[in-house]
Amino acid sequence: MTRPRYRHLIWDWNGTLLDDLDYTIGVMNALLARRRLPLLHRERYHAVFDFPVRTYYGRLGFDPLADPFEKVSTEFITDYDARRTEPPLHAAAASTLAAVRATGARQSILSAYRHETLLEIVAHFGLTGLFDHIAGLDNHHAHSKVALGRDLVARLAVAPADILLIGDTLHDLEVARELGVDCALVAAGHHPAERLRAGGAPVFSDLGAFASAYGFRPA
Ligand SMILES: [Mg+2]
Repeated sequence: MTRPRYRHLIWDWNGTLLDDLDYTIGVMNALLARRRLPLLHRERYHAVFDFPVRTYYGRLGFDPLADPFEKVSTEFITDYDARRTEPPLHAAAASTLAAVRATGARQSILSAYRHETLLEIVAHFGLTGLFDHIAGLDNHHAHSKVALGRDLVARLAVAPADILLIGDTLHDLEVARELGVDCALVAAGHHPAERLRAGGAPVFSDLGAFASAYGFRPA
């Protein structure tokens, strides 16, 4: 059995384990269509999606007077959540998580998704038992993924050098750098490989390629 290079893996959820790119585009296109704004396709979405998401919303053409950010983002989240069990896991997600677990490494989720909804969706896929901690945003405790990540790393009691964060956007890389942990990026979610490569962290085409590179092979 491969000795784990990292003692703990911190996973992003949306776009990294959950394959919700096309679902997300579809939900946003319904909002855009209601306002007769230009629709998104993968290429345009990959070019404009950003953090903070307020910047991304600005690029979509919403009228800031008729449609302030808070109103549009609430409408998006409500519509996203209405059919939230539709998007599947990425093909190699479950096997990769199991393979990581088999090496003895521990795993957690760090997500900007609402904490209670995150717990519910992870349970929906039967994955809850694979994670030591599942941390989603909860306005009572944290206002950003960085603050939530600091809290998580403190709870892990593992040296940052022994932690790897896996995400699908440049924001995940920013968070990893703030936390002082290594980062691997998978270009199968919300940012395209060209944008991810500019960050300087290792970029993989999908979870299977990530798992092979790090020695996490399915049993
Ligand atoms: Mg993500």
